[in-house]
Amino acid sequence: MLTIAVSKGRIYEEALPLLADVGIVPTEDPKKSRKLILRTSRDDVRLVIIRATDVPTYVEYGAADLGIAGKDVLLEYGAEGLYEPLDLGISRCRLMMAGPKGVKPKHGRIRVATKYVKTARHFFASQGVQAEIIKLYGSMELAPLVGLADCIIDLVDTGNTLKANGLEPRELIMSISSRLIVNKAAMKMKHEAIHGLIQRLESHVSAQA
Ligand code: AMP
Repeated sequence: MLTIAVSKGRIYEEALPLLADVGIVPTEDPKKSRKLILRTSRDDVRLVIIRATDVPTYVEYGAADLGIAGKDVLLEYGAEGLYEPLDLGISRCRLMMAGPKGVKPKHGRIRVATKYVKTARHFFASQGVQAEIIKLYGSMELAPLVGLADCIIDLVDTGNTLKANGLEPRELIMSISSRLIVNKAAMKMKHEAIHGLIQRLESHVSAQA
């Protein structure tokens, strides 16, 4: 049995056609079902539906053999305990620093709101900027508007959310897409099945590129 961890929402929606291309079709729709384990058209493959930030944890500890996770989540988690063999090219967006439109970036110590605390620390250290990082769990765009932070680090797709809140992108930290991740022990123990799956996914990804 192969267990694949996927998060609900955009990643799941965009992963579905890819999985279908390699013959894996869930027998239930997670939007309609409350089940957290979904059987698929393949008796030897099941999906577990979890929060995006939990996907690397399930895979690292072997509760799932494989997972699909955004590079933003993997950067923050620290992916030493996992293999990351394939960029699936889905859920593309940008991890950006953004601040109030037309306001010059402050000199000296700045306050930054983000859910990507480690990544933000690393980014500002590499720039030689002193930053106090404030951890938030959502709606980062609000923080500069109410004086909680000078700027934010968040995912940007169309840029509409920034715009609607009077913010502008300032610096690109990283282009993001979803990656296939694999448990290290499973890669050895279930090598044939996992390697076969990676190869089939890889050829579909490169055909679409
Ligand atoms: P947008 O207005 O299209 O730039 O989207 C920005 C909002 O969507 C922000 O609140 C982001 O946190 C969220 N977002 C954008 N891209 C992604 C993604 N690939 N995965 C999860 N959230 C995203």
